[in-house]
Amino acid sequence: MVKILITDGIHEDAIKILSKVGNVEIAMDLTPEELKEKIKDVDVIVIRSGTKLTRDVLKNAKKLKIIARAGVGVDNVDLQYATELGIIVVNSPDASSISVAELTMGLMLSAARNIPQATASLKRGVWDRKSFKGLELYGKTLGVIGLGRIGQQVVERAKSFGMNIVGYDPYIPEDVANSLGVKLMDINELCKISDFITLHVPLTPKTKYIIGKDQISLMKKNATIVNCARGGLIDEKALYEALKNKKIRSAALDVFEEEPPKDNPLLTLDNVIGTPHQGASTAEAQKSAGTIVAEQVVKILRGESAENVVNLPMVPSEKMGKIKPYMILAEKMGLMTIQLLDKSIEKIELIYAGEIAKEDTELIKRSFLMGMLSPILLAGVNLINAPTVAKNRNIRIVEGTISESEYGNALKVIAKGKSEKVSIIGSIVEGRPVIREINKYSVDIRPEGIICIIKHIDRPGMVGKVGLLLGEYGINIAGMQVGRMEPGGESIMVLNVDHVIPEDVLYKLKKLDNIKDAKVINL
Ligand code: NAD
Repeated sequence: MVKILITDGIHEDAIKILSKVGNVEIAMDLTPEELKEKIKDVDVIVIRSGTKLTRDVLKNAKKLKIIARAGVGVDNVDLQYATELGIIVVNSPDASSISVAELTMGLMLSAARNIPQATASLKRGVWDRKSFKGLELYGKTLGVIGLGRIGQQVVERAKSFGMNIVGYDPYIPEDVANSLGVKLMDINELCKISDFITLHVPLTPKTKYIIGKDQISLMKKNATIVNCARGGLIDEKALYEALKNKKIRSAALDVFEEEPPKDNPLLTLDNVIGTPHQGASTAEAQKSAGTIVAEQVVKILRGESAENVVNLPMVPSEKMGKIKPYMILAEKMGLMTIQLLDKSIEKIELIYAGEIAKEDTELIKRSFLMGMLSPILLAGVNLINAPTVAKNRNIRIVEGTISESEYGNALKVIAKGKSEKVSIIGSIVEGRPVIREINKYSVDIRPEGIICIIKHIDRPGMVGKVGLLLGEYGINIAGMQVGRMEPGGESIMVLNVDHVIPEDVLYKLKKLDNIKDAKVINL
């Protein structure tokens, strides 16, 4: 029988499932040394976030076939090394969506009716029926920012309260929003018209402070903000000022910029209620996190395919050798595509040129989709599920091959949104990915680090103006090139920069004469 080691607290139902297929040993709170010893002869290890499976630990895992992570994040596992060792890693990304959605509704109702404040007053022995007059949810407008797994569950629940629902999620197709009964709009419009605003986006460089001073200043006086996603999505200083000065009505927070919060002034305000990051903390979420991964383990042990595999260890190495550089290129091109288009994508065309067109391109396509989807989704987009995730988002994928291209072996992608289009050509030069064309402009970019792409009219002095502005803000330009179709026409400038360009500097850049647009891309 296979040996299964459980090193973190897992629901008993999951243990029952695993006990049917193997000998289960539970050993918690192991030191790294003890873990290295225990892992030597096990076939499966089941963990939550408490166990760190580093390279150093995994080196000792001579028989290990499966790492099962009950929950979403796999940052406590050295994925690359596990993949090299041929170990399958599974997780359970969907397990907590309903729990988080229900807490969101709970916080929304609690804020609307001042339930925590009234409870505290009652327990102090006060019978005060005047101070806690609340609001109904019925008939109010709910603005949902992020319409992924949790956002959609919140929409379903809010509908039953008779709320009108509007949403902001530039990456969700309009027909998906329509079928949910959500009217899509831009974030500022949403902030203006919503009575309740709830956040369900991952924390990324793009979503950091997605609710900042400017958005808060647009909100209604009776607006309530609910955040059950991540601290860092809201500028807490701006939120504090607005709540203290009653510019908005209230806030209900499960997450904070610093956790646990230390002297957070928000927690001194009467119109703030909160919970200590309790979104996924229910018996059911914990049970399903465990049972989902246990079922995945059973499937893999039976030789069946599992849905939540996070890595792809089964590719033969001869095949990997040829296509690996193109997988890296494709992933980078996916990252560039979503950041350049920055809208919902309806169709992707992938064209493989030259020798690479003769290979099995499935993994190249999957790498592209993984790169394109991972900046906008919380977790779990991988080589296995990327095509399914794209399909669920109604993205059509068309593939083609051509025997030759001016760049030799190359990959071309054309991504179409509702009204805009992005095209990129990339190839491999000296074993490394290079971007050769962006929207038909010839360039020669290593897709690494932070890149700023500026669309402008070709006029003398443009490079100087841009350099001067960035220099003023201490942003160093490490490399620069210009691509143009004809002298004096529309051109692009591509800058490799050493630091992130803050939003306000980008705004100033876009306002310079003859600049049409500027985008910062993180690769
Ligand atoms: P998801 O990946 O299913 O959905 C995220 C959605 O955000 C996607 O639809 C995506 O298109 C959208 N999005 C991405 N970037 C955006 C942007 N710049 N503007 C607007 N929309 C954007 O994620 P999920 O499972 O629904 O999780 C949502 C959030 O909930 C995450 O931040 C996650 O960390 C958090 N979460 C919190 C708890 C908790 O304990 N409070 C538990 C689980 C998840």
